[in-house]
Amino acid sequence: MNYKNYYDILGVPKNAAEKDIKSAYRKLARKWHPDANPQNARAAEEKFKDIQEAYEVLGDPEKRKKYNVLGSNWQQAAHQAEQQRRYRSAQGETVFDFGDLGGSSAEGASGFSDFFDMFFSGIGRRQTAQQTAGFGHQRGQDLETTIELGLRDAYDGGKKSVSLQVEDVCPRCRGTGTLNNALCPHCHGTGRLLTTRKFDVSIPKGVREGQRIRLAGQGGAGSPNGDLFLIVKLNDDPTYKRKGDDLYVDLPVNIYDLVLGGEVRVPTMAGQVTMTIPPGTQNNRTLRLSGKGMPRVRNGGSGDQYVRLVGQLPQELSEKEKKLYKELAALRNGKS
Ligand SMILES: [Zn+2]
Repeated sequence: MNYKNYYDILGVPKNAAEKDIKSAYRKLARKWHPDANPQNARAAEEKFKDIQEAYEVLGDPEKRKKYNVLGSNWQQAAHQAEQQRRYRSAQGETVFDFGDLGGSSAEGASGFSDFFDMFFSGIGRRQTAQQTAGFGHQRGQDLETTIELGLRDAYDGGKKSVSLQVEDVCPRCRGTGTLNNALCPHCHGTGRLLTTRKFDVSIPKGVREGQRIRLAGQGGAGSPNGDLFLIVKLNDDPTYKRKGDDLYVDLPVNIYDLVLGGEVRVPTMAGQVTMTIPPGTQNNRTLRLSGKGMPRVRNGGSGDQYVRLVGQLPQELSEKEKKLYKELAALRNGKS
């Protein structure tokens, strides 16, 4: 990423008055508008974009102030901003975009350079600068992060205390990135900080992968505060596979129970149960335990549990067993 010298791009001195910046921008924008440069439209477009970007920053007192204090510290600030960007993308990219520029927030791109995005896409447009600076009287942003749960958490539901890393507005500079006309040392000018906060979360029984849990008022600061959405990520369970509200389990059984029928103990989320195997059951047959699956979040009741019977062949046979198996084989083959 390269440092963008917006003053050079607009050809104005660092102490230029607002009206001079505006007129320089107008003049250059007219000159480099792609429509006015059909012979080298592509180069003109690049130039035009730079000019737009420079004016987006220098034409906005809030952004200009931040840009001025970035100065030689800009790389350090970039490092901090990059860490936060990584955090956001690790969270699934949809996270906490404080005061994003609106429009295509999914790409997180303003249409301007990486340099711009890194430092200024969080500040917001002129009319929202005040709000970002002091939280104003607008509703706070809705925030989003993931919450990892085990199958047991999802089955039991109920209250769970979780610590989550969330991105907060920097409390020192209140999100402006500047403090006493210098780069805020606390957040290195990004206006945001990663902090760990504890939340008491109500987990709905039977919660599914990807489901969103809303924590009202726990989102971005404002009046009122925004909401915090937790997106459920279910960890794989060593025993059960889950499909919808049904659970699947493999149960090792001895072949005599398959051949002759019998009773076996089966683990379920509600504890062990006894299951009857009918005589002459084929290997890998699946039996259903009705209502032993996950609780249904919406309609009440529960899914089912499917138990696949996996026959275990006896090993290290004794001489007597071998003899009996031979007799059985001969009987089967009609030789006796
Ligand atoms: Zn700060």
